[in-house]
Amino acid sequence: MTYELPALPYAYNALEPHLDEQTVRLHHDKHHAGYVAGANAALAKLEVLRKEGDFSTVKGIERDLAFHVSGHVNHTIFWESMGPDGGGEPKGELATQLNKDFGSFAAFKGQFSAATTQVEGSGWGILAWEPTAKKLVVMQAENHQNTGIQGTIPVMLCDVWEHAYYLHYQNRRADWVASFWNLVNWNAVAKRFTAARG
Ligand code: MN
Repeated sequence: MTYELPALPYAYNALEPHLDEQTVRLHHDKHHAGYVAGANAALAKLEVLRKEGDFSTVKGIERDLAFHVSGHVNHTIFWESMGPDGGGEPKGELATQLNKDFGSFAAFKGQFSAATTQVEGSGWGILAWEPTAKKLVVMQAENHQNTGIQGTIPVMLCDVWEHAYYLHYQNRRADWVASFWNLVNWNAVAKRFTAARG
């Protein structure tokens, strides 16, 4: 299989009390696993199309591929963006870049929180490196793959699909986003930033 579900980088209950064990377990083992399976299934279908030389159904399958691969990539970075000893503020070059591009950490946090909370329907808040301008940007993604900026490299993600928070937070998406800041593993985010910047 081309895509594989990565192990959660901590115990299922490691993010409590901000994110409960049942939510994490279902989210990783069922939802994330579903995107991995969907991505591999789409690749297999495309292989059949190529063998048979009939591409009449390719549009829907390309759409499936984009959805499921993006779901897999987003979740992988999401799990890595958090940790049991998270929270606080970034240091070093990531802090410098955030200050440069957003004015201050507080301004960045305000923009990211609002953008993430205001995602229309299911989606994500994303901090990403935009290599053309060499800037960090905040984006919203609807579903997993829509409304982003092409060519950007995701550095930190917050999932605001209802499956990410509804068991614990019900309709209070803003409360989940506020709690997310207690979980951010800034060392991991900084490593991803450094790699993205190249
Ligand atoms: Mn999710």
